[in-house]
Amino acid sequence: MKAAVYLGPEKIEIRDLPKPDCGPREMLIKVEACAICGTDVRIFYNGQKNVVPPTVTGHEIAGTIEQVGKDVSGYQEGSKAIVVTPVGCGRCKFCRAAAHNLCVDFKAIGYDFSGGFAEYVLINAQAVAQGNVIVAPDSLEFDEGSLIEPLSCCINGAEYLKTTLGDTAVIMGAGPIGCMHAELAKSYGATKVIIIDTVDERVDLAKQATNADVFINAAKTDPVGAVLEQTDGAGADVIITACSAAPAQQQALKMAAKRARISFFAGLPKDKPTIEFDSNLLHYREISVFGAFASHATDYVRAMALIVSRKIDARKLITKRIPLDSIVEGFETSRSGHGLKVVVQP
Ligand SMILES: [Zn+2]
Ligand SMILES: [Zn+2]
Repeated sequence: MKAAVYLGPEKIEIRDLPKPDCGPREMLIKVEACAICGTDVRIFYNGQKNVVPPTVTGHEIAGTIEQVGKDVSGYQEGSKAIVVTPVGCGRCKFCRAAAHNLCVDFKAIGYDFSGGFAEYVLINAQAVAQGNVIVAPDSLEFDEGSLIEPLSCCINGAEYLKTTLGDTAVIMGAGPIGCMHAELAKSYGATKVIIIDTVDERVDLAKQATNADVFINAAKTDPVGAVLEQTDGAGADVIITACSAAPAQQQALKMAAKRARISFFAGLPKDKPTIEFDSNLLHYREISVFGAFASHATDYVRAMALIVSRKIDARKLITKRIPLDSIVEGFETSRSGHGLKVVVQP
């Protein structure tokens, strides 16, 4: 099988590898689409501890079930399927609560285990037993299906925020994740969704890809002042930072309404993860700040329902489709911020 083998920072080779053998408790998925995630880009350029070369990255996977191990029941070869990324130990308290994303021995497909930038991906016995293969309806388009994983992560983050009818939601960062959060906030009932970015091109992309109501370029307009103006001085009820920028987190705290919920959805760079803020803002205004990391299987099921029904139109978020051979070009495009989601079709 053809695979993009990651050999270390900025080194990747398209190689012909043997098609993986499917053990009795394993499953083999034929990858039809694997979208490029921000973390795939980071791994390609900088490496990551839990990604040991040579290996295959890619975790936003949609495909067909090629082979079902003889001891696995409940699946049919030929079905469309998507793959859940986190693989938990199954024994810690988080796994027992089905929150494999918080497992004390967290592992993941496309990181610790070989991933989807290849013609086939083998789902190991632990992942199969945990239910990491989710059968998709025949109506699922594979390229759209590859966006279920990132949307599931947005749902995981958004669930803490309890966005409801009449809320004003601010999304900081107009990348694919920011656009998904904007669409989700609408689904949850937010009446006014405001997208903020610092680059005109990205603001324009978000205008085309989302149903958000207000777009602000924070390089030209003070975003805190603009949000206060949009909310008659009250501030936003929900704020999501979908960009790895400390100033965005600080601004989020300043533009928050009383009882606002904030998601620091994107992490900050490892070498500079600290921010400073007025703690009394949180105290007197009863503001809550939440984190979010990856997602669990329930989030995938809900993301799949949103994408299959086109309540969230994944087609608007995909701006490039490439063959496996062009994967480096895909990483470059994703990093440049020109366009939204890039989908690899192996
Ligand atoms: Zn991802
Ligand atoms: Zn665990």
